[in-house]
Amino acid sequence: MSERLKDLIFSALRAVQFGGQDIVARNMVAGVTAGDDGKASIVIQIAPDKKADIDGLKQQVEQAVGAVGGVASVAVIFTAHQAHQDAKDQRQPHAPQKLVLSGVKKIIAVASGKGGVGKSTTAVNLAVALAQAGLKVGLCDADIYGPSIPRMLGISGKPQVREDKKLVPHERYGMAVMSMGFLVPEETPMVWRGPMVHSAVTQLFRDVDWGERDVVVVDMPPGTGDAHLTMAQSIPLAGAVIVSTPQDIALIDARKGIAMFEKTNVPVLGIIENMSMFICPHCGERSDIFGHGGAQAEAERLGVPFLGAIPLDIGVRLKSDAGTPVVADDPGGAVAGHYRAVAGKLRDVLGA
Ligand code: ADP
Repeated sequence: MSERLKDLIFSALRAVQFGGQDIVARNMVAGVTAGDDGKASIVIQIAPDKKADIDGLKQQVEQAVGAVGGVASVAVIFTAHQAHQDAKDQRQPHAPQKLVLSGVKKIIAVASGKGGVGKSTTAVNLAVALAQAGLKVGLCDADIYGPSIPRMLGISGKPQVREDKKLVPHERYGMAVMSMGFLVPEETPMVWRGPMVHSAVTQLFRDVDWGERDVVVVDMPPGTGDAHLTMAQSIPLAGAVIVSTPQDIALIDARKGIAMFEKTNVPVLGIIENMSMFICPHCGERSDIFGHGGAQAEAERLGVPFLGAIPLDIGVRLKSDAGTPVVADDPGGAVAGHYRAVAGKLRDVLGA
């Protein structure tokens, strides 16, 4: 589905009122999908005691979304959601009930506006750096469309299932690690529809025994899709970190990512510039292949912290591909130092 069509559908849904507020602001929109054939599906969460209002609401949603150019038909699916904040509770209009993870102190989403900027690599190395600093760390691969953390950490195999049906994360470098890649064979293409995205992402938290954690680092899927909405609405995020390359085009995407988190009231903890400068391994000369400083300037402009820059370094890629993150493989090296500096800044911002 094109992001543009989705944006248009969301705008249309903002015009639909329920209980004196629009349904997007009320966090009632649990999922939006639209195929190239123009068939749109909208999943609406509604409190069980509001069932009587379903017909009127369905008509309004059908009319609003049906009027969007490019939409040929609209299916409205209602889910009764116990946790949904209903009209009785107007004190916190933007705070739907979220999962309660009693042992986990802070959950941070590592996101990017587009793929290929090194989001997963950054999430893994950052998590290892935080674990090396003595924190109890969890690493959750929520990139359900292309989970890469099993490969980056050299872990495979299904996690154990406890008697109470909870999944036990794998352990690596002192971290608890969970990924959809452990549950689904790598060669299985994952095609998720809106409501499935919601359940897949929540499963990674609700059905996993994360134990006692100071911080759980979440590798988000690229872009700003259904998984982000679920994360923002159902998972108690302490905030989001945006990874961007210095190129302006990537920054335009990064800005989209920031706007998405802001819209859903998730604090943006900062921006990390990845593949920043290149230090020649032979002569030590520095070259700014993709330009330099774009993310820092952008962070200042947007008033969000700049968490630091990670150089473009062949070792980062080689170690990742070999299943050992560079921070674990060469903790005394220069690149690990950059990741540690970013991790330190993140701890300051986070108060962890
Ligand atoms: P994303 O999660 O944004 O799609 P990945 O983390 O999978 O991106 O990284 C994409 C590719 O770039 C991988 O091959 C990875 O090893 C490489 N990469 C990421 N960061 C760096 C870096 N700082 N230096 C060199 N290669 C990097």
